[in-house]
Amino acid sequence: MKRIFTLVNFILLNALLCAAQPKKPQPAGTELDKKVDALIAKMTLEEKIGQMTEVTSDVVSTTKNGVHQIDADKIKEAILKYHVGSILNVSGQAYDRKHWYEVISTIQQEAAQDRLKIPVIYGIDAIHGVTYTTGSTLFPQEIAMAATFNKEIAFKAGQITAYETRASYIPWNYSPVLDLGKSPLWPRIYETFGEDPFLIKTMGASIIKGYQGNDVGDKYHVAACMKHYLGYGDPLSGKDRTPAWIPDRYMREYFLPPFEEAVKAGARTLMINSGEINGVPIHASKYMLTDVLRGELHFDGIAVSDWKDIEYLHERHHVAATEKDAVMIAVNAGVDMSMVPYEYSFYNYLVELVHEGKVPISRINEAVHRILKVKYQLGLFERPVGNPDDYPKFGSEEFRQVSVTAATEAITLLKNNNHILPLKKDLKVFVTGPTANTMRALDGGWSYTWQGDQSDVFAASKNTILEAIQQKIGKDNVSYEPGAAFDSLKNISETIKAAKKADVIVLCLGELSYTENVGNIDDLSLPAAQTELAMELAKTGKPVILVLAEGRPRIVTQAESQSAATVMAYLSGNEGGDALASILFGDVNPSGKLPVTYPRYTNALVNYYRKNLENGNPDDKHGYNPLYEFGYGLSYTSFSYSNLHISKPDLKANESLTITVDVKNTGQREGKESVLLYISQLYASIAPDTKRLRGYDKIDLQPGETKTVTFKITPRDITFVNDISKTVTEAGEFKIQLGDQTQSFNYLSNEIPSRTGKL
Ligand code: BGC
Repeated sequence: MKRIFTLVNFILLNALLCAAQPKKPQPAGTELDKKVDALIAKMTLEEKIGQMTEVTSDVVSTTKNGVHQIDADKIKEAILKYHVGSILNVSGQAYDRKHWYEVISTIQQEAAQDRLKIPVIYGIDAIHGVTYTTGSTLFPQEIAMAATFNKEIAFKAGQITAYETRASYIPWNYSPVLDLGKSPLWPRIYETFGEDPFLIKTMGASIIKGYQGNDVGDKYHVAACMKHYLGYGDPLSGKDRTPAWIPDRYMREYFLPPFEEAVKAGARTLMINSGEINGVPIHASKYMLTDVLRGELHFDGIAVSDWKDIEYLHERHHVAATEKDAVMIAVNAGVDMSMVPYEYSFYNYLVELVHEGKVPISRINEAVHRILKVKYQLGLFERPVGNPDDYPKFGSEEFRQVSVTAATEAITLLKNNNHILPLKKDLKVFVTGPTANTMRALDGGWSYTWQGDQSDVFAASKNTILEAIQQKIGKDNVSYEPGAAFDSLKNISETIKAAKKADVIVLCLGELSYTENVGNIDDLSLPAAQTELAMELAKTGKPVILVLAEGRPRIVTQAESQSAATVMAYLSGNEGGDALASILFGDVNPSGKLPVTYPRYTNALVNYYRKNLENGNPDDKHGYNPLYEFGYGLSYTSFSYSNLHISKPDLKANESLTITVDVKNTGQREGKESVLLYISQLYASIAPDTKRLRGYDKIDLQPGETKTVTFKITPRDITFVNDISKTVTEAGEFKIQLGDQTQSFNYLSNEIPSRTGKL
């Protein structure tokens, strides 16, 4: 108790000292800043703190006999008594557009009754399409988007999601997830763009540009919310929201760059990591939320807490002796808006804290400035609710096709013994396995409901893997038995009997939908029953095509050793079944590549950007012995790489290097190839990573066609963070790798390329 008392006093003292310091002269604000300040000047303290308060939809709703509506008394209380600035989420499950119109109109009408008529900013997790609106276009989850290695698709998916989110009258999207998908156990791996910082930052920036367009305030764009800042994706235990240990150097090397890029791409808002790192909850970290985020990255948008995370500073992390202290610590650290989300304690405590001088009014004004500015930028003051007639393309065939393309470019062919794939359409196919006939295994969590458990109802018109195969080759050619639930065998003798009658078995293994703590696992292996099913089917001697529909790379080594072909379907969304069938039967040539390392063993979970440890004993892989490497993926055609050329052997500061390579389609059919540029520094002042992805490009080649792919890199593209947390490029030899081609160049200068802030 004493320790906590001391800590709180220390933080309080710091807050007061900060408040007492003379403010640095600020550059004269823009017209918009002046408009915002003029509004702030009219606001009472209570009205300001209301703006910083975000409650969940349930707080202002009643649901009777399954019918949801905004409750007249509750919304009055939220707006007129507490001046609530933001509401989020859905109550229960997805609504149709008409209901969203009623919900948002009722809320905004109430806001118009408040003294200053400040519109509410409504936020939603439209993380792979607008997840909580029926009839929307649901895309593959981020992990699958990353597997496309196609930024253009990420951009288009972002554009369509923004359109359909505005068509649901919502202007704020809690996406993209920019966390590093580093620990395969973590239940939110599928919400990330995988394990590589470069892939995450480039895909992330593209989707943000799609969400926000050139004018975030027009009727087709929404504010992006990069999340979860910072270091959420690598908890020590692999479980959601459990402590992480991440040294500052690693934080800056791997976790920070995607957020830095997102700020440059103009992301208007950010959500904070619920976890604690090195014992410091991020919601309490002035270093992360103010010094790094504002001081170094120059982010000027809203920083919103994650779900209940201010309260958790008291309840879970124990860095605040009371809930009120938690509010003080978080707001002084730099949280602008609290996703409270169930009641008004945050509001009450913060009013008191300002009166008591424990939170400076300057901090309140700063937070409210950021919130109101985004509201203006979103056009909410002129157009608090959109016009239903403005969105004729909602759920259209045109949009669906983009989701089809994304899914087909994501699905990754990992093994194809004797070119068994593509299958002929006149074969007798036996489909089995727990992921074969459910949309939950294609859509994952955040689909119609938080846990995605109603996808078979809401996406009933979409094809599961089984239905898509039936549609592709005719029902008469397809037989089906589930074979297993997720963790138990089902009708195994019937299953084997049916398998024996077929020419080929399509075995669909993987996971059911989940997210956050609900998806925590103690064992990365697939449940034993699924492996058992695979082993029983192998005994039939029929070729097994193994399809993995899963959100993270579960260990499948034993089952996979029996397959003739293996296809990673990820969570490829509403069109994933059709996309997979098109690939299995050769209508589409696969072109996905793994955005994560696929581990072979549960206790060997080393990412591809590991250290150079192999030089001693070649038999000791030092934990890096994956089943499939990051960036791996096959095609029905073949590609050869040649003529790797660099524009000069030596690179100096302020110069750039042009790298070209010829890629030829040496097979019989058209195909797409993601060309991945890896660069390794051979020696540096800290142990360099074996290799790092520094560029990629996706090209389309006709049989026999050759294209030259060009990359331009500058010293800034080959930096690392040194032992004093500075981003540097050190002189030395670098190796370039493109396919099987390698080349070396020397960097001749030790100058530090300038970056943001102290970096
Ligand atoms: C998740 C966030 C999400 C928020 C609002 C939290 O539990 O961590 O990613 O945006 O809920 O739904």
